[in-house]
Amino acid sequence: MVDQGRLKEVYSHIDSNFSKYTSDLIKLIEKKGVSAQGLGMEECMMAVRKLIDDLGFETQIYPIPNGYPVIFAKSINPNSNDDDSLLLYNHYDVQPVEPLEEWDTDPFSGVIQDGKLYGRGVADDKGDLVSRISALTSLKEVLGSIPISIKWVIEGEEEIGSPNFHGFVKDNKSMLNADSCIWEAGDLNPKNRPEFYLGCKGLLYVEISITGASSDRHSKYAAILESPTWRLISLIRSLKDEKGKIMIDGFYDGIIPPSGEEYKLISNIEFDEAANLKFLGAQRYLGDKKGPDLVSAFINEPTCNIAGLFSGYLGKGPKMILPSSATVKIDFRLVPGQEPETVLILLRRHLKSNGFSDAGLKVLSSEAPAKTPADSELVLKATEAARKIYHQDPVIWPLMPATGPMALFRKILDIPVAMVNCVAYVGSSYHSPNEHIYLSHYQKGIEYFATLLADYREKPE
Ligand SMILES: [Zn+2]
Repeated sequence: MVDQGRLKEVYSHIDSNFSKYTSDLIKLIEKKGVSAQGLGMEECMMAVRKLIDDLGFETQIYPIPNGYPVIFAKSINPNSNDDDSLLLYNHYDVQPVEPLEEWDTDPFSGVIQDGKLYGRGVADDKGDLVSRISALTSLKEVLGSIPISIKWVIEGEEEIGSPNFHGFVKDNKSMLNADSCIWEAGDLNPKNRPEFYLGCKGLLYVEISITGASSDRHSKYAAILESPTWRLISLIRSLKDEKGKIMIDGFYDGIIPPSGEEYKLISNIEFDEAANLKFLGAQRYLGDKKGPDLVSAFINEPTCNIAGLFSGYLGKGPKMILPSSATVKIDFRLVPGQEPETVLILLRRHLKSNGFSDAGLKVLSSEAPAKTPADSELVLKATEAARKIYHQDPVIWPLMPATGPMALFRKILDIPVAMVNCVAYVGSSYHSPNEHIYLSHYQKGIEYFATLLADYREKPE
């Protein structure tokens, strides 16, 4: 634990270097790093590497065959050992910027307007990444060294579903071994309360196709040929009943319900229903749910979502055809106790027993769900640091409604993993046009992270 007076010096160091920390972030935004489109990946990776090298970390680049490299860096404090390290996870890739016409600024130029910094990746995940680098820089410059051992893994394929990261973690288990892991992000709610996420839902993303004639045919044949489109509609209809229950046999088996403590955390979540509805541009919530029921559904319900549906002619004017194929993309968000491999077996069985054994089925992405207990040391320490900087308790989500490769660390490394950063806020428009953060949040996020690292070990230095 660092002396509190020294910590104050760290805060003023952050303050006097804040314009540099902001320009570091802007320079990284300019490097693009769109993994889905292969845009600026090398430049972005090299820029991150340079920032971490400058911190004095031992850095190594791990090439990924047919993929984007992983950066691994470490800084071992002489007073602690390698396994006592805190592991940090981030990613240097970002989502594509399209639709470009919906952006008010150039997504890769990092424009500051009304106290906000705009740019692709500023909230997910470059802001978090550079805030950590900034916090570490200030700690090092004021204290002379970083008070704890840090291992850092930064991948370049998170935004395309981390297809190679599983293999990387498995192959490098002992290198990554640590005390706990701080995941990529976290955010502030509308009352500027930090929101922590202790887990994430799993994912099974599939593409299902039905094919008919060898080519699109004149629609007169609809009288004598079966339509793949109608068959796909029946297939989709068989997956869910009118009330929204997923009809795949065994789908809900094995789900681990939240503990009493987790239910308590869920009931303490501040979810502004009206503001969220406005932000979403929607009229109502599914089933008109509200209050704790709504939040509980958001966190605890697995989903079967149609992400895309395509068949036939969608161009201008009429075209009388009987389409030759129909395709649907479906994502299932899975909750603890549901493994994607098992759900896939159940789905195949469902298709077969409902007369769709001829349907083509491709898995596009999959990830297991993961959860860390709320009483783990990491969460308690992050809570204390949040109280110091934000003067209020964090809102703790036992599980976030989205997915990330957190299960890899939970399961393979068997360590607590939590998202406890506070740089973005709920309105940051992640993955959307006009992604942004507040510069004031960025500065506080740097102070918070420095505090968390400085106070992480009980023992005074
Ligand atoms: Zn991310």
